[in-house]
Amino acid sequence: MLVDSHCHLDFPDFEGEHEDLIARAHGAGVGLMVTICTHIRKFQQVLALAEAHDPVFCSVGTHPHNAGAEDGIPASEIIELSQHRKVVAIGEAGLDYFYDKSPRDAQQRGLRTHIAAARETGLPLVIHSRDADDDMIAVLREEMANGAFPALLHCFSSGEELAKVGVELGLYVSFSGILTFKRSEELRAIARDLPADRLLLETDAPYLAPQPRRGKRNEPAYTAMTAAVLADVRGVSLEEMTQQTTDNFFRLFSKVPKDALPRAA
Ligand SMILES: [Zn+2]
Ligand SMILES: [Zn+2]
Repeated sequence: MLVDSHCHLDFPDFEGEHEDLIARAHGAGVGLMVTICTHIRKFQQVLALAEAHDPVFCSVGTHPHNAGAEDGIPASEIIELSQHRKVVAIGEAGLDYFYDKSPRDAQQRGLRTHIAAARETGLPLVIHSRDADDDMIAVLREEMANGAFPALLHCFSSGEELAKVGVELGLYVSFSGILTFKRSEELRAIARDLPADRLLLETDAPYLAPQPRRGKRNEPAYTAMTAAVLADVRGVSLEEMTQQTTDNFFRLFSKVPKDALPRAA
């Protein structure tokens, strides 16, 4: 079965619908999902979803949009919250120079704090990067040299150089519905050429629904649509793509027990 490695189930879009969402995901061959924290101050809501539903795991961290508001939260606090058995990743953190909703220096401090937490815990860092390729490359190179940490570039939509450097530094690369959009030729070329053992899939739901649902609300079940496009781009069967990305998920998100994956519907 597939895994949706990045969604936001705590967003109001899904209020009161979690059981149905999970059932629809299961029906579409998506067995597990990781709901991603965007405000440490709202972490308890995210964790409550993971506690309530077996196939849901979660992360802890501050989205770059909120880096200003949560500036100064120490790595030690993130590390402590990550001790819960259902917390399997750090983030999402990173740099978003497209929206610039937080000062860039706060975004960079936040990113480095989350890197420290990932390095210490061994949990993968979920990296958000938009219009910030040069600074992201510089931070990743510098921080990796200070001590390796597991990480992925989530909802990858950056340039080829960041993908190349990421892979060189040991990172994984996760593709969302953007991969399926008509104008994403360049992105599909990047996805075609990456090593098979670094690929992940996600929805980033409720955002970025794949074709043909573009513009509508996204949900974990639609991971299957992006999986089909990725399989096509790489010239492999959907079964092979599913197996590969799920194996990659368990290698990177090593805290998720292998028996958490349900059998296919
Ligand atoms: Zn993101
Ligand atoms: Zn996200």
